[in-house]
Amino acid sequence: MIFDSHAHYDSHKFDEDRDEVLSSFLPAHDVGCVINCGSDFASSEFSLRLAEQYDYIYAAVGVHPHEAEEAGEWNPQRLKDLAAHPKCVAIGEIGLDYHYDFSPRGVQKEWFERQILLAQEVNLPIIVHDREAHADTWERLKAHRPRGVVHCFSGSVEMARDILSLGMYVGLGGAVTFNNAKTPVEVAAYLPLDRILLETDCPYMTPVPYRGQRCDSSHIAVTARRIAEIKGISVEELLTAAEQNARELFGI
Ligand SMILES: [Zn+2]
Repeated sequence: MIFDSHAHYDSHKFDEDRDEVLSSFLPAHDVGCVINCGSDFASSEFSLRLAEQYDYIYAAVGVHPHEAEEAGEWNPQRLKDLAAHPKCVAIGEIGLDYHYDFSPRGVQKEWFERQILLAQEVNLPIIVHDREAHADTWERLKAHRPRGVVHCFSGSVEMARDILSLGMYVGLGGAVTFNNAKTPVEVAAYLPLDRILLETDCPYMTPVPYRGQRCDSSHIAVTARRIAEIKGISVEELLTAAEQNARELFGI
C-alpha cells in the first residue's frame, strides 16, 4: 500500500473533484494512508476536517514559512487547540524558505523555533520545510533535537547524514524522478531503508513522466519504482519499509 506522508488536498486545485479523488480514486490506487499538511490556520483546520471525513487521512497543523508574516500574533493556545484533535499526528509544515522569502527571515525563524518547542510540549513530531535554508534549519534542529521528518529533502548526502544523526526521517518525493536529478539520486542511494518516508507534496512536485499534470498520492507508485531501482530492491520492500517508518513516526 501507499502511505503518502505529505499532501495538500485542501488546495484549490482539488476544488472541482476533491471528494471523488479522496473517496474513490485514491483507495482504488492502493493509497492507504495520507498526512494532509496545513500551511496556515485555515488550511490546518481544513486538514482536520478532511481527516474527520475520511478514515485514512490524518492531519498535520502548523504555519509554513511563507505564511508566517500573515499569521498574526503568536498565540500558542490556538495551535495547541488544533493539535489536540485526535487525528492530528504532527506539527507541520513548518520551517524556513529562503528561495522565495515570502516572509522576512527573522519572522520565519521565530515561527519555526516556537513551533518546534510547541511540538515538543504536546509530544508530536514535526514536518520540516527547508528550501535553500540548510544552515539555519540545521542550527535549530541540532539545538532542539525534535522528532520528525525533513520533507521533500533537497540537501546533500552530508546534510542527510546530519539529519539521521538526530534520529529524524528524510522525506523523498518526485524530485528523484526529474531528468537532471543528481543529488536527490545520491541521497536516495545513501539513505538506510528505515529512515525513508515517501511523499508527494501534491498537487505540486509531479514526478516524471506526469510533469505538467496535477500530482496526487497515486503518483508515489512511480517515485517508489525509481527509488527502488536506485537502491536495487523491490518496490514492495520500499513501500512496506516507508509505511512502517511513517506509522512509527506519526503513531498511526
Ligand atoms: Zn508541502
